[in-house]
Amino acid sequence: MAAPSSHALPADLVGLRETTRRFVREVLLPAEPRPGDELAEEDRLALQAQARDAGVFAPHAPREHGGLGVPLQHWSPIFQEAGYSPIGPSVLNCMAPDEGNMHMLAQVATPAQQEQFLRPLVRGEVRSCFGMTEPHPGAGSDPGALRTTARKVDDGWVISGEKRFTSGALVAAYCIVMARTEATGEHPAGATMFLVPMDTPGMRVGAPIHTVDRYIAGGHPHLHLEDVHVGDDAVLGAPGEGFRYAQVRLGPARLTHCMRWLGLARRALDTALDRAEARELFGAPLHSLGLAQGLISDSVIDVETSDAIITKTAHLLVDDPRAGSAMSSVAKVHCSEAIFRVIDRAIQLCGGDGVSDGLPLAQYLNEVRPFRIYDGSTETHQWAIARRASSARRREVEQGAPALGSPAYPRSDSNRH
Ligand SMILES: Cc1cc2nc3c(=O)[nH]c(=O)nc-3n(C[C@H](O)[C@H](O)[C@H](O)COP(=O)(O)OP(=O)(O)OC[C@H]3O[C@@H](n4cnc5c(N)ncnc54)[C@H](O)[C@@H]3O)c2cc1C
Repeated sequence: MAAPSSHALPADLVGLRETTRRFVREVLLPAEPRPGDELAEEDRLALQAQARDAGVFAPHAPREHGGLGVPLQHWSPIFQEAGYSPIGPSVLNCMAPDEGNMHMLAQVATPAQQEQFLRPLVRGEVRSCFGMTEPHPGAGSDPGALRTTARKVDDGWVISGEKRFTSGALVAAYCIVMARTEATGEHPAGATMFLVPMDTPGMRVGAPIHTVDRYIAGGHPHLHLEDVHVGDDAVLGAPGEGFRYAQVRLGPARLTHCMRWLGLARRALDTALDRAEARELFGAPLHSLGLAQGLISDSVIDVETSDAIITKTAHLLVDDPRAGSAMSSVAKVHCSEAIFRVIDRAIQLCGGDGVSDGLPLAQYLNEVRPFRIYDGSTETHQWAIARRASSARRREVEQGAPALGSPAYPRSDSNRH
């Protein structure tokens, strides 16, 4: 089907998108492991070396730290090409959670922290993880329930608590840990982010959590922080700013998940289209049967509307980050649900093969299912979207707009609408 939208893509980036497309289709598709198997680490490193040689490595990361410096508003076509292969984002070093961490470190880390933590991440020399979610009754959908604490001591901080679903923790060199902190000096109480090397005494990766997805290396284990002592220089940015920085990370990070998984949805749709072309049923090709056409057209609509909302949100995140962050909720709900539907319909069109390991579609469905939960579940975002819509409309009415649906409007003595 049609390639990702290249609307307003500068000429040099059209070239990068094409190179990425060729690299993914010619080099990565033949190198993919069987559905459900992980890419061996030595194979991943060898493919990363090829990606560097091809000039497609770390497209989103700042040039001064070793990336290609593509601006955020133009990430989508390139990330979608990467996502066309489930190993693409990892080989191109634009995979979660590293990619979101890179973006946040580029925005809020000190120059020394960028040198120590960001540069090796961009170059693919280390990996990272992000520790926000906790076991009940701690932080999950509600970050305000954060229970991990960091206590100020003379020479730094002591962090205690437990995280879970810490993607990549088994292979990470460091974790960005979110902890609750008291007010210190001029810094307010709230949450603070800490850059904590995984080999710091007291950091212990705990039990694995076996989820349905496979392509994030390092699993999603528990992480125990047992009186982890770090220096003041471990504070990412400033104390008390953790919740604000989480938004700096999560707005773009949930949108890049949409981009990558939309690439995989395109792959699923192409698989279904090829099957519908080749398969004859009831004396006709499958693609000519009306109900099959319904499945195909609904998927094309889901892909195209996702592409459009991603592009709009990416531009908003640059032009008006606050509005962009709010719009990223809309994009996240739409894309995560639409991408799931596209892959599910592709399975349906492929019949029994769709749910067998003869095709990778069932594994794709396993990969995208958790996306309806992480980065804020569909329901959490719907709740936020509705609250924002109500309060924005309330403000308009307070500023003089007629309250159209109010019980007092239209007046009973009037037939105006
Ligand atoms: C594969 C995977 C990878 C992950 N990686 C990371 C990671 O790297 N780092 C990290 O910190 N976390 C990670 N997470 C955790 C993820 O962010 C949380 O699972 C998510 O925030 C939901 O929290 P919870 O699991 O505690 O569910 P809960 O908070 O218990 O929510 C359960 C359900 O409640 C419903 N709900 C939520 N809000 C509302 C509402 N306002 N109104 C109505 N219903 C609502 C939703 O249906 C939601 O699914 C990962 C999770 C998964 C599955």
